[in-house]
Amino acid sequence: MIVNVAIDGPAGAGKSTVARAAAKELGYIYVDTGALYRAVGVCALRLGVATDDAAAVEGILGSVKVELKFTNGEQQVFLNGENVSSEIRTPEASMAASNVSAIPAVRAFLFDLQKNIAAENDCIMDGRDIGTVVLPDAQVKIFLTASPEIRARRRYDELTAKGQQVEYDDVLDDLIKRDYNDSHREVAPLRPADDSVTVDTSGLSLEQSIERVIQAVREKIQ
Ligand code: C5P
Repeated sequence: MIVNVAIDGPAGAGKSTVARAAAKELGYIYVDTGALYRAVGVCALRLGVATDDAAAVEGILGSVKVELKFTNGEQQVFLNGENVSSEIRTPEASMAASNVSAIPAVRAFLFDLQKNIAAENDCIMDGRDIGTVVLPDAQVKIFLTASPEIRARRRYDELTAKGQQVEYDDVLDDLIKRDYNDSHREVAPLRPADDSVTVDTSGLSLEQSIERVIQAVREKIQ
């Protein structure tokens, strides 16, 4: 039996770090679906297409190829054959991803890719609509969240550790804006699936958050 674990939640809740570590422990692959939306966003930015112009973004999809490859369990994202795994991590790419992700054609464009990976691999897949839309039959669904200030602090630490020059207040503003975009869009808005378990990581250490997720999986999958 293939095991699918869906982890959804707002930006900066720790989904990727927690999901990556839990997947490693469980021997599953970790699929970061945000990277797909980021790759489309970066493609639009490169082509000078306004990321909130639905018709224009839809117009470029015919010449966009997005692929995920897994080496030693690590996901790499390719845009038209080029590895863009680092380039998609800038604040501009985050906002571009949030904008293009509200466009139904973009969501449809990336849907099969996500479904196919989950059909063939035991995986922990994280995103915004995994438990609600992409993998409604996932055996385990987790909604991972934390307060906006804590999420902004974590994201700020992550970006500055990578040498990016950002201000905490800008990170917090961006995050609040993205939360709003993600939960108010018409297609696949961010919300907990009815059958999900909510894990609030505000008061949890990273290790505790990882343990909660592993526990939730082990409780369901014997
Ligand atoms: O998870 P990450 O922050 O990398 O996602 C970037 C953006 O992509 C999110 O703000 C969200 O708008 C979008 N996204 C989405 N659905 C997903 C994953 C990401 O709409 N499954």
